[in-house]
Amino acid sequence: MCEKVFKDGRIGEVSGLKPYAATASMQNAPKFFSNNRLQLPLCHSKIGLSRHYPWQHLLLLLVLPLLFSLASPAAAQPKKRPLTIRFQTFNGSTYLYMVDVATFYGMTMTTRGKEVTFKSKFSTITFAENSRQMTLNNVQFYLSRPIAKNKQVFLIGKSDFELVLEPILRPATITPKCPIKTILVDPGHGGKDVGAVNGKNYEKDVNLAVALRLATKLKARGFNVYMTRNKDSEISLDRRTKFADAIDADLFISIHCNSASPSVNGLETYIATPQNDPAVGTTVVSRDACPANKYDKTNAYLAFYTQRALIQRTGVADRGVRRKRYYVIRNTNCPSMLIEIGFISNNAELANLKNPIQQEKITDAIIDGIIKYRDATK
Ligand SMILES: [Zn+2]
Repeated sequence: MCEKVFKDGRIGEVSGLKPYAATASMQNAPKFFSNNRLQLPLCHSKIGLSRHYPWQHLLLLLVLPLLFSLASPAAAQPKKRPLTIRFQTFNGSTYLYMVDVATFYGMTMTTRGKEVTFKSKFSTITFAENSRQMTLNNVQFYLSRPIAKNKQVFLIGKSDFELVLEPILRPATITPKCPIKTILVDPGHGGKDVGAVNGKNYEKDVNLAVALRLATKLKARGFNVYMTRNKDSEISLDRRTKFADAIDADLFISIHCNSASPSVNGLETYIATPQNDPAVGTTVVSRDACPANKYDKTNAYLAFYTQRALIQRTGVADRGVRRKRYYVIRNTNCPSMLIEIGFISNNAELANLKNPIQQEKITDAIIDGIIKYRDATK
């Protein structure tokens, strides 16, 4: 990385923003940079968190709904010196000083070689220089940009702060709020499109078996549930997303199985790549917005907690939350995720995927993720 192309900068200091405890509802939660990314440039943007003691920041983050109801006027006095997050630009992208981001969240930052760790009483986040892999409380999430280092300063991509850390660590900042009532469950493939194959085992059948269980359980939880298919029928990708529009779905969940060389195994949850960010595994940036980008923050939160529940409940290897513009998750006008529930190409995992006990664990985990989101954004 060439130091010369870095440009030092500082995000404008904030005035007039209220600290967390001052807000009467989540709708009034403080905004960072502004609530609309198009209102940049950054130097005119606002960021604000008045200086409480670090432990107060974190407490406020993690028990936000409770605090909103308990906040007293005395706790609502803004302090005078707001925190600022410094940034640098590199190759047209904006990077934030990680040490400032850690402070912002009331976390301590330590470094060891290439590794950077944010730590608080409640959370541990690890990053590595030149890597897009982040581990947050033992769950992997692939960032849009590798962690950079310039003149001993560790830097994180601005969009990774805004669209990954913010929604997960501070769900009150998630916009828009999307109450989930109607859910469209989408078993991948079907009919002549069998999906991945291992011997006489077809992905389409495993997807359907898990999706049927998921739909049944979601109904029992009181959601309005539809399926793009409930039998072995072929249905185009376009019809699947149009179906979501037709029923005015609040959430679209696509169930798939992965395929690779026989030894590869593990679970992945996909959401759409944000605008101006690269998908996982590539540096090519998605310049245009897709319909799903309205829900980038919701998707990050949902996918993180779904992936967490999946690996906790099933014990299967964590291959992380990943962002890629698969057709059905980029063209949905509601929050959406595509879950690769395991590798059909791995014999042990295939046996597991066909096992009703494992299928129950998978469906319970997906429901955990949805309920977590619903409760966090009530
Ligand atoms: Zn598939």
